[in-house]
Amino acid sequence: MPLFGGIEAGGTKFVCAVGTRPQDLRATIHFATTTPQESIARAIAFFEEQSKGEVLAAVGIASFGPVDPDPASPTFGNITTTPKPGWASTDFAGPIRRALGVPVGFDTDVNGAALGEHRWGAAQGLDTFIYLTIGTGIGGGGLVNGQPMHGLIHPEMGHIRLPRHPDDPYPGACPYHGDCLEGMAAGPALEGRWGQAAESLPADHPAWELEAHYLAFGLVSFICTLSPQRIVMGGGVMEQSHLFPEIRRRVQALLNGYVQAPEILENVDEYIVPPALGSQAGVLGAIALAQREINPER
Ligand code: ADP
Ligand code: ZN
Repeated sequence: MPLFGGIEAGGTKFVCAVGTRPQDLRATIHFATTTPQESIARAIAFFEEQSKGEVLAAVGIASFGPVDPDPASPTFGNITTTPKPGWASTDFAGPIRRALGVPVGFDTDVNGAALGEHRWGAAQGLDTFIYLTIGTGIGGGGLVNGQPMHGLIHPEMGHIRLPRHPDDPYPGACPYHGDCLEGMAAGPALEGRWGQAAESLPADHPAWELEAHYLAFGLVSFICTLSPQRIVMGGGVMEQSHLFPEIRRRVQALLNGYVQAPEILENVDEYIVPPALGSQAGVLGAIALAQREINPER
């Protein structure tokens, strides 16, 4: 099987790897996200070094965004309006394609992770499901009828509006909307509301009940609009695995029996799940994106 390269580009760090599948990741590198020029050059250098002797067939990029994932657009492969300093209007796929001379697959970090989970992880055999990350921000992507969700641009599931908890005075941390889902429930909102980093809040802290409350409201909206066959939830905040049973219980309560699916009513432990690929979901998703360049059926 030909060799592929993958880049998981996060706002905080890049992970690059070459390989073909989870059991065959031949080299991986992590580095902090700095300027676009420096970060992209490091990724190119890594692939040039790793592919010596064996040609890369394609590279996939699963990127933080917003991005332009439309191959027909003149700004395809760009990071577009991100608030991350230095990265707005950055051509990301172009320099990689030119330097390495290979096809480049490009999509959001969450569509990439969804593809990886579909190929090798928690979403195998499904044609419509979503992948959410709850980390520095909240992002959602996935497949609909077997194809990555794009549409107008790509989904922005973190920025839906939802009712505030009546006892929560926190104004919200989203620079665009204040109290959207991301503004109320991403890692920085936990830190802003409680005055300490999310990872240092103990499991019995009231923060987590409120967190499950907001995330469950988000999930109910996605269930009612997209009808996903499963919801995969990753990202740093979901390392708090005690959130899963709380979220599942609240989703069932909020739906109140209206969506008559045994997956939700009887088998919710397998409906709302962590990524099976764990922390490798992102970079394996990028490799899956690369493989689609060679074989679009995959
Ligand atoms: P990114 O979103 O940059 O890709 P992460 O998914 O790791 O990276 O998200 C980072 C956010 O998640 C930070 O706000 C951090 O406080 C929070 N976080 C990371 N680890 C944990 C943890 N174990 N428990 C709760 N929150 C965490
Ligand atoms: Zn927002």
